[in-house]
Amino acid sequence: MTATGADASTQDAAAHDATAQDTAARDIEDLLADLQLERSGLSGRGPDPAAGRAARLSGGIARLGLSRFVAELLGDGPPVPATVAVLDLEADEAGRRASYRIWRAEARSAAEEVWRWLTERRRTAGDRPWWCGESALPLPADSVRRLAAVTAPVTDLAPIAESWGRTAGLGDGVEEYNWRWLMLGKGLLGPSAGAALPGLDTLLGRLVEQARGHGLLPAAHRVGLIRRPNTPSMVMPVRLPGHSLLSLPTAVTPVTVQYLQHEIAHLAEHAARPAAAPLAARWSFDPLRSEGWALLLEHLVTTPEPLVRLGLDEGSAAAVAGFLAEEERFSRGLMAADLALEAELGGCRGAAGALEAAAAVIGRTGLRWAPELLLMRQPRMLHWRSYLAGYAWRDTVLAGLTSRFGAGWAGRDDAWAALLRALASTGSAGAFLRSLTAPPNSPTPDPTRSPDDRRPEHQGTTGPVGGSTPARP
Ligand SMILES: [Zn+2]
Repeated sequence: MTATGADASTQDAAAHDATAQDTAARDIEDLLADLQLERSGLSGRGPDPAAGRAARLSGGIARLGLSRFVAELLGDGPPVPATVAVLDLEADEAGRRASYRIWRAEARSAAEEVWRWLTERRRTAGDRPWWCGESALPLPADSVRRLAAVTAPVTDLAPIAESWGRTAGLGDGVEEYNWRWLMLGKGLLGPSAGAALPGLDTLLGRLVEQARGHGLLPAAHRVGLIRRPNTPSMVMPVRLPGHSLLSLPTAVTPVTVQYLQHEIAHLAEHAARPAAAPLAARWSFDPLRSEGWALLLEHLVTTPEPLVRLGLDEGSAAAVAGFLAEEERFSRGLMAADLALEAELGGCRGAAGALEAAAAVIGRTGLRWAPELLLMRQPRMLHWRSYLAGYAWRDTVLAGLTSRFGAGWAGRDDAWAALLRALASTGSAGAFLRSLTAPPNSPTPDPTRSPDDRRPEHQGTTGPVGGSTPARP
């Protein structure tokens, strides 16, 4: 059948539109890449200022559902309250105490701003939990339900902090300028720590080699590495799939192995993003799935044997493994305090009341912890909830892997292949679980299509980008 003149011109117009949209999608991808680089303090490739390019491409950006994401990357909207000062964790006890005073004073003067920010977030949340606004891209509905349902008891953390303090020869492990230092494992191995721990390059090289061995990191995925002293480790997507940026603190401590493995997990998730998925899907990360997956890989390096394989001597490996188990309990305890404070804030009328509520929660942890510094953590509630729910998700995944592949699953290629298949979807944390626990030889459920996982939560108004993943605490 021959097309009529009118049909042919309609087809031409449609083909032209499709080409124009492809070009726009590529330009938008370039813009996202440049903006991510700029956020890391590196200059992007584009010759034009990003804001101008974003304005020119705004129609396409809106069609792809990326308007809020781009606005976030451009730094539009009210910034998340944060201090400029940091606790200097490289300093000795007197130096830490001095820098802590400055940090705490700044946090105290920011308490009103934090309170206003949180109030505004709650006011504009609509029918979703207020912390959904921390993600600039829609969150899967089933994960939001899991994150909202998570609970954690506030426990007495003083015995752990005191015991770490005694090992390190410190007078008082429960002082905040000390427990924040102790929870990095500093002081655990004494003056011989430098000799007991492999260097950063060695650790990273060995962990990457293991990840490649499991098929988790394709050679084609480029990773830019930046070293920043006194900063948390972080991975940022630059172009997905294809390029990520890994930012690491310079000092090696007993938790470094865990942090590196965590970030390698995020890198693997970036690298596994299906290239054919729509642009918005490639950039959307379910925080429950991402953090749960990172906690799963972390878990594989928390016993002495893998630490010995990474180059630690047996005595240090045993000490570090024991410490990592305590550090997990301690971190979960801090996040339980975040959750407890969140529950109290609903009944507070102002910043002064919020600080009183924070002091009461802190009293139950046994730590000396500045109320203003606990309050300061509230804007990152999505992150804390993702971790707390992520631990439970990780344990379910581990149980599923063990029942399907046996206790030695980590040594089996078919187990890693199943994990990679689940990871290489854009499905939610729940879909990942279903895909992984499908009995062998049964048709694997398509992890990208499950009842309502992808039904997006409504987009909020503002908040940090979900794609970057700073480490705890
Ligand atoms: Zn993470």
